[in-house]
Amino acid sequence: MSEKGKLALYWAASCGGCEIAVLGIDDKILQVADAFDIVFWPVAVDAKVRSIEKMEDKSIDLCLFNGAIRTSEQEYMARLFRQKSKVLVAFGSCAHEGCIPGLANMTHKEAILQTAYHDTPSTVNPEGVRPQVETEVAEGTLYLPFFHETVKTLDQTVDVDYYLPGCPPEPERIWDALTAILTNELPPPGSVIGENTTVCDVCPREREEKKITEFKRTWEIIPDPDKCLLDQGLICCGIATRAGCGALCPTVGSPCIGCYGPNEGVEDFGARMMSALASVIDSDDPEEIDRIIKEGIPDPMGSFYRFSMAHGELRRVAEASGNGKPGETA
Ligand code: SF4
Repeated sequence: MSEKGKLALYWAASCGGCEIAVLGIDDKILQVADAFDIVFWPVAVDAKVRSIEKMEDKSIDLCLFNGAIRTSEQEYMARLFRQKSKVLVAFGSCAHEGCIPGLANMTHKEAILQTAYHDTPSTVNPEGVRPQVETEVAEGTLYLPFFHETVKTLDQTVDVDYYLPGCPPEPERIWDALTAILTNELPPPGSVIGENTTVCDVCPREREEKKITEFKRTWEIIPDPDKCLLDQGLICCGIATRAGCGALCPTVGSPCIGCYGPNEGVEDFGARMMSALASVIDSDDPEEIDRIIKEGIPDPMGSFYRFSMAHGELRRVAEASGNGKPGETA
């Protein structure tokens, strides 16, 4: 890239950890500042949406878009950055797979609003007020984005060029992505910027033939420091998860929870994990297998679809009322 490029970062439905992870590249951030003009980064730079709207199409070289699409505003920003960016990266697990915001697809918009504005023990709302898409005040009309029925991934909303998985992506992988665009050595469009192996493949723990008679929760045992955690009965998702994190969690004794998403060729992370676990239970008795699963895995959705609910085959529970329209409750 001969002259300074343009870089945008955006934060949709997410926790903000991906934004902080960008700063994890430490002093290399100065190289980023040398190579790019940062045209939009709400957490760090005072830039305006209308400035982006006025830019020529495809005039932003790289947009790192983190977060799932939950509201009409986030959908608008996804479409705006798609229009204005040469390269749009689904940055982090929420943009890639829906992540924790995507677990909201296990319920409905109405149930979420009912809980948040009426039912929680800390809510005091005697008049039952809910945020409205449009509110008239003396100064004019105030607008809020409306809340979609379904959480979507970025690529369920607009075309995405690359994926950078992780919750959040490791700084080394972020630097890989920035280096790839700076040196114009990008992988084929549609690629995941990461490794095509599993966390198990890079995990230093010793594996044996797995014969599980009981699944355990992390608080129930102090695991052997050298042996595979799954061999010890802990539900470790390394077998189905794409490498890229350096097996950080299992290395320090905490089971992999799958934040880097499914490895290459795996369509549905949860289904892959369930079939992997089914094959290591040491019993032929269906009732015994049923007991081991029910007692050891009390939250299958949270265990197997924590990151991929919006992206996997399930996507959501049955639709209730369609996506919101202007004039509805926000
Ligand atoms: Fe794989 Fe987890 Fe066992 Fe490591 S501890 S080998 S990541 S299952």
